[in-house]
Amino acid sequence: MSVDDRSRELFERASRSIPGGVNSPVRAFTSVGGTPRFIARAKGAYLYDADGNELVDLIGSWGPMLLGHAHPAVLDAVTAAAAHGTSYGAPTENEVVLAETIIGRTPVEQVRLVNSGTEATMSVLRLARGVTGRQKIVKFAGCYHGHVDALLVAAGSGMATLAVPGSPGVPDAVAADTLVAPYNDRAAVEAIFAEHGDDIACIITEAAPGNMGVIEPGVAPGPDGRPEHFNAFLRRIAHAHGALFVSDEVMTGFRVTRSGQFGVDGVEPDLMTFGKVMGGGFPTAAFGGRRDLMQHLSPVGTVYQAGTLSGNPVASAAGVTTLRLATDEVYAHIDAVSRTIRGAVHEALDAVGVPHVINTAGSMFSVFLMPTGTPGGTRITDYAGAQRQSGAAFAAFFHAMLDQGIHLPPSGYEVWFVSAAHDDSAIDRIVSALPKAAVAARTAL
Ligand SMILES: *Cc1c(COP(=O)(O)O)cnc(C)c1O
Repeated sequence: MSVDDRSRELFERASRSIPGGVNSPVRAFTSVGGTPRFIARAKGAYLYDADGNELVDLIGSWGPMLLGHAHPAVLDAVTAAAAHGTSYGAPTENEVVLAETIIGRTPVEQVRLVNSGTEATMSVLRLARGVTGRQKIVKFAGCYHGHVDALLVAAGSGMATLAVPGSPGVPDAVAADTLVAPYNDRAAVEAIFAEHGDDIACIITEAAPGNMGVIEPGVAPGPDGRPEHFNAFLRRIAHAHGALFVSDEVMTGFRVTRSGQFGVDGVEPDLMTFGKVMGGGFPTAAFGGRRDLMQHLSPVGTVYQAGTLSGNPVASAAGVTTLRLATDEVYAHIDAVSRTIRGAVHEALDAVGVPHVINTAGSMFSVFLMPTGTPGGTRITDYAGAQRQSGAAFAAFFHAMLDQGIHLPPSGYEVWFVSAAHDDSAIDRIVSALPKAAVAARTAL
């Protein structure tokens, strides 16, 4: 008997009926090898797989589970909502509360609820193009904004893990309207605007990138010589050319602070996208922004956007409850948990001489295991830098952690997500698994 017999059996069965056995590529173990664990249930900081193994969860459903799994208050709200019917196709009070909650925590003046981050970014591009009457958009290499055609060019997340530059099926004409710059590269953005400025509808960026691993937005002297945050630079150059600044906070929103990355840099976007945490584990997401821009949407305006299940009552109940419980104490807790784990990772890797870079955005962090000979003090500031990590070292590290009951995201291009439910005992388990995993990484280098 092996510890994952039942998972293997389910994966074989899944692979017959579902391409690759998974419904989202990042769940596959493509870059680390082996078969994914099938999850039977989850509670707090723990996943329980189909073979009955208890695993400390550092995936957090790839971001949503800020409060931990199966939070009693969220479950109560969801059960109560479901008992009143699961979808009406007519407006409800709770979706207004969710919209007001988002508006209360972020700079947006109006929001529209949708069902996924992908829908949010797809809709926000249509709105930006509809409002400006321009076609082109600017994005950054390694940023992921969902699987929208126009945004799958040089995308992160699963496309970084699989090392593919783009997807077949995206029309050339669509890809041609997507202009790509290296993240943190102000000169490249300036060059793009110098050439195409009059045709650019918007810049879209992850507020702080997490889909090529975490990359920290840089600060550099602005026009007045004072330090200027990368997002402030993007807003400034977009506005100088009549384009909009769109901040994708699907991952960072309501996670890195009570608002998101906006709470860190204070740069007010024209339009924003949200998802993950705001759905509390249910399929709900949103886009929002300045009222004058949002008023272009149907039915008041002419930019069309719709959804049968948008503002779904069960998902809205989960979202409202999650955000109500996402208090300052929760953010202080996850920041502290993140700091402790990062410190322990650094210590374990240093002890056996594995070169590494740990990047952070609030409680979000990524560990890049670097090839032998990488100088100390090396920084990773863009996708090209992230691609210098050692895939072999990460695979060995990942499996050594999993063997000891710690489930990291199965890719070196992803964030380790912590939650309010990660307590001292979960942290102790992570910390005690690290030395063995560091040795495995060292051996694989
Ligand atoms: C996850 C993510 C998306 C896509 O959201 P889905 O709900 O998976 O469609 C978009 N943007 C960012 C920054 C994300 O992290």
